[in-house]
Amino acid sequence: MTNYFFHQALIPKGWAKNVRVVVENDLIQSVDCDVSAEPGDKKASVVIPAVPNIHSHVFQRAMAGCSEYRLREDDDFWSWRELMYKLANAMDVNAFYDIAKSTFQTMKDRGYANVCEFHYVHRDLNDPNNTHAQAEAILQAADDVGLPITLLPVLYSYSGFGEQPLLEEQQRFALTVDEYLQLYAHLEKQIKPQQRLGICFHSLRAVSPEQMRRLLDALPKEAPVHIHIAEQTAEVDQCRALYGQTPVAWLLDNFEVNEHWCLIHATHLTEQESKDLAQSGAIAGLCPLTEANLGDGIFPLENYKNNRGRWAIGSDSNVKINPAEELQMLAYSQRLSLRKRVVCSDQSQAHAGSWLWQQAVAGGVQASGQKVAGIVKGHMPAFLALKSINQADQSRDHAEILLDRLVFADDVGIERID
Ligand SMILES: [Zn+2]
Repeated sequence: MTNYFFHQALIPKGWAKNVRVVVENDLIQSVDCDVSAEPGDKKASVVIPAVPNIHSHVFQRAMAGCSEYRLREDDDFWSWRELMYKLANAMDVNAFYDIAKSTFQTMKDRGYANVCEFHYVHRDLNDPNNTHAQAEAILQAADDVGLPITLLPVLYSYSGFGEQPLLEEQQRFALTVDEYLQLYAHLEKQIKPQQRLGICFHSLRAVSPEQMRRLLDALPKEAPVHIHIAEQTAEVDQCRALYGQTPVAWLLDNFEVNEHWCLIHATHLTEQESKDLAQSGAIAGLCPLTEANLGDGIFPLENYKNNRGRWAIGSDSNVKINPAEELQMLAYSQRLSLRKRVVCSDQSQAHAGSWLWQQAVAGGVQASGQKVAGIVKGHMPAFLALKSINQADQSRDHAEILLDRLVFADDVGIERID
């Protein structure tokens, strides 16, 4: 058992003072506010929960910063994808394990509570019939680092809308529904505590509605369901051409999207979709740094927030691993597009840093399908102590300001203390 005492801590209802937290068996047993420290308590001044990472393709870390040169005049997401496919087709299972282990360690050190790994490089490089080894390497790497994981094996069957066959360079991603179900059943036997499985469709362009129904019918109803939904305007246009609707509207009309769902890159949303997605209770999975890096577009957070929509963040391509910077990018993209300041706040939480952090933790726990973060009874302990880097400057060390400085300035550090 470990007991903690925090002078100030960010809990779901806001900042609390003199907070005592009891942890036993890797779970928070109690959280008491306005109490005194007891002998033996591990003390910290200002503490926030680590943030769930709801979207990662861990192997892409190997190309972080290595695709920032011009290939042709109209470089975009699709030309970046060519480079990414080359990487995916060069990595064997050992390379996969190595990059996963070092990247998961970085996630843990930089303030993420867990990872939801959107895993689609299924087939072993040297033995294409083996669809299990890569997933097992990822689970092993997460376990070796001590990072909770929600592994999302991806169904990826087609290269484009209308069941177009996979391209040569997409063959390692290919699974039929039957192969998917076999993989899922195999992995269910492998997972350890703090690991769980979810259902995952690569995108509406990569699966058929019939395949989606078959998986959803066959697998547990309470499993998280993740899908890339509307990252690129080209896929939105193709979806409209085939289904007569934009992706989010079509998905909401044809499937029972509920709080178990997480729609990754719900970037291109109409006002009606924003309202309907918020009402569904699903999470909008936002990856602000990757979306900026790939030139995807800007998620309309202000509108979605006014509809009480829930959201969470992910490191996606892992071009940079830093939850505070993801939140800063999210906030700044809104300010730039709206030409306003401090839009990421509301009546109950005026400080943008605290508002962003609280929303990302709550939404991230929901999308992960595991209680991986939050200073809440029954959740896993993942605590970050905030420290002003300039120790002489104590006057600005109010908790709200410290967290704002973590997100918007570069003079506050974090230390994991769980
Ligand atoms: Zn992705």
